[in-house]
Amino acid sequence: MESIIETMEKYDYENLFICQDRALGFKAVIAIHDTTLGPATGGCRMWQYASEMEAIEDVLRLARGMTYKYAAAGVNLGGGKTVIIGDPYRKDREPIFRLLGKFINRLGGKYLTGEDVGTTLKDMEYIRMETPYVVTLPTYLGGAGDIAPMTAFGTIQAMRACVQEVFGSDSLGGKTVAVQGLGAVGYNVAKQLSELKVKLVVADIHAERVHRVVREFGVRAVPPEGIYSEEVEIYSPCALGATINDETLKKLKCKIICGCANNQLKEERHGELVQKLGILYAPDYIANAGGTIYDTDRLGVGGVNHERGKEKVSRIYQTMEKIIEISKKEKIPTYLAADQLAEERIRKVAEVKKYGGDLLPTF
Ligand code: NAD
Repeated sequence: MESIIETMEKYDYENLFICQDRALGFKAVIAIHDTTLGPATGGCRMWQYASEMEAIEDVLRLARGMTYKYAAAGVNLGGGKTVIIGDPYRKDREPIFRLLGKFINRLGGKYLTGEDVGTTLKDMEYIRMETPYVVTLPTYLGGAGDIAPMTAFGTIQAMRACVQEVFGSDSLGGKTVAVQGLGAVGYNVAKQLSELKVKLVVADIHAERVHRVVREFGVRAVPPEGIYSEEVEIYSPCALGATINDETLKKLKCKIICGCANNQLKEERHGELVQKLGILYAPDYIANAGGTIYDTDRLGVGGVNHERGKEKVSRIYQTMEKIIEISKKEKIPTYLAADQLAEERIRKVAEVKKYGGDLLPTF
């Protein structure tokens, strides 16, 4: 088995910090992947990992993902992530999140945290009591509040660029979209698409979420397993990861896959398969970057401004256009084209940074 340092060498990670406090039963790992573009930024996940190694592998993988997400989105932030090893439903949250805040503060702004699976805005408030280096915050603390509507808005911009490529016009009106998952983001995707006169078919494993969307937007619902075989132009995965796999690719009839879920390709080879099937895939970290673009926009420019943040999110359209262009020119799948776009930006900005005098986000 690879050692931790060997794993870090492979993708050139900068740091890995292991944090613990015996009295509070606190265990966490902070990973910093790459700070070429700016301070490493990425949320804090809380999860009951089977082993320490599993937690370390997860935090490293997630931190690297953030580097690519910000780089491709044109944001001046690097990639980082935290995982707390523990029960995400743990009740005594104030001491552990304040302690995490203390540890993050020690890093002096090299790493900025936020919300992720298993953590809430309330937890971020506890972190904020001990450090200013937390991005996701409620509006009364100077943050952007709920970012799910902006994640959805970003997904729809990627969708419009895909529709332009496949159908020759970026209008979504009259198209049929299958939305899988009607949670924080999926609900907003359904809402915003229905405002654009898109025909929707939806699914969720929670019946009440389906009922709400059917009631509010008059859409058609299908059972969770039925969503893949619907006759639609666009399949929008907004639930869990790995839904693009050998089984679902046999069923999908769409021309475009564009949703907010993370890690949509079960394996990288499914990215090649999608291309061979003539389906245009909007890489997940491009299509779901809207929330974090909006959330981090306030850094260094004096706080939240809805219009400015939304405008930045809308640029996902142009990012997706560039990815399609690279994919066609280089004859590579879109997921690789996205990686190439991100890596090239980091390489070029590193060249600029040789001259020093960084203008860093202020707090
Ligand atoms: P959420 O937990 O609020 O919603 C997920 C929904 O998917 C739930 O309603 C759940 O019941 C449903 N679901 C689970 N399994 C399903 C299945 N098999 N079939 C149909 N529905 C199923 O989560 P969210 O915040 O809306 O995030 C959705 C996805 O987008 C996740 O993959 C998340 O990592 C990603 N994402 C979210 C954000 C954000 O701003 N919240 C940003 C980037 C990426």
